[in-house]
Amino acid sequence: MGDIILVTGGTGLVGKGIQYIIETEPEGSKFGKKAGEKWIFASSSEADLRDAAQTKKLFEKYKPTHVIHLAAIVGGLFANMKSKSTFLRDNLLINDNVLHTSYETRVKKVISCLSTCVYPDKVEYPLDETKIHLGPPHESNFGYAHAKRLVDVQNHAYKEQYGCNFTSAIPTNVFGPYDNYDLEDAHVIPALVHKCYLAKKNNTPFIVGGSGKPLRQFIYSRDLAKMFIWMLREYDDVEPIILSVGDDEEVTIKEVADAIVKAVGFQGEYKFDTSRADGQYRKPASNKKLLTLMGGFEFTPFEQALDESVQWFLQNYNTARI
Ligand code: NDP
Repeated sequence: MGDIILVTGGTGLVGKGIQYIIETEPEGSKFGKKAGEKWIFASSSEADLRDAAQTKKLFEKYKPTHVIHLAAIVGGLFANMKSKSTFLRDNLLINDNVLHTSYETRVKKVISCLSTCVYPDKVEYPLDETKIHLGPPHESNFGYAHAKRLVDVQNHAYKEQYGCNFTSAIPTNVFGPYDNYDLEDAHVIPALVHKCYLAKKNNTPFIVGGSGKPLRQFIYSRDLAKMFIWMLREYDDVEPIILSVGDDEEVTIKEVADAIVKAVGFQGEYKFDTSRADGQYRKPASNKKLLTLMGGFEFTPFEQALDESVQWFLQNYNTARI
């Protein structure tokens, strides 16, 4: 029998990216489905992974041989600041249930998901895989950050005590189809896409908070998907790995906004509100380890990826998370 890959959080931004690649790349190709392989993309409606019994039931139903564990309570700055206990406890429960059930049911490999925003607040840049635990996270998201950091701790503990093949990926800022476009709580790209769409629709100015100067690394969900598939096939080390474009491929928020204006076809007034705080100027993360191990990767050009994401949003406005 072929491998059975369970993707928890399979209905979210990253999960939908993996599903797209698995369904569109030719079978048997580098990132395509292998013959006999079965992929399951689970949503929270099928099992609430905060609950141990529901988690066990999900694993009994599908009997996965491999797990890509993406399910998490994810949110922007405001939600993180407001609900630290929920971000800590719900994510701890989800991760513990998924990892322990994977151990009990002898899953061959689990790839979980950390994030570059769980790194120490005071740290030397660029970030790399060795710096996760070198100091406390930023005060604003310490609940989420500690829960995520513990996945790495658990991976080591399960490996050392039971020999489990558990590891983790560390993506930078992800964007793509099926993102969360909620204006209150979205990450920067989906929030600006939604704002620009409304500005065009209502004939109002498109105002971007801050100077537009800060630099960020963005990874397209469909590129990230290929990296997860590569990890599943090729990467068997407990140590985490950063999945990102290079630290020399940062883009400014202005470049992001310019690309959005173009993709949305917005022709009205467009300006930056410099009275709003900019946040950190740069927080680069190195993808050296990834590129060395993968032997290079052809990233989708940023403007093309952004345009594909915007077109998806425009075509799916009625069903998107807004
Ligand atoms: P989304 O918010 O788009 O999706 C979250 C997924 O988790 C959904 O499929 C959701 O299911 C599922 N989920 C949430 N709560 C539960 C629960 N209690 N039980 C079962 N499933 C649950 O997140 P992303 O796709 O953006 O994130 C995926 C992973 O990537 C996360 O681990 C996140 O921490 C990480 N990450 C994301 C980044 C980003 O920029 N987005 C950056 C770095 C890391 P449903 O929709 O059915 O409720």
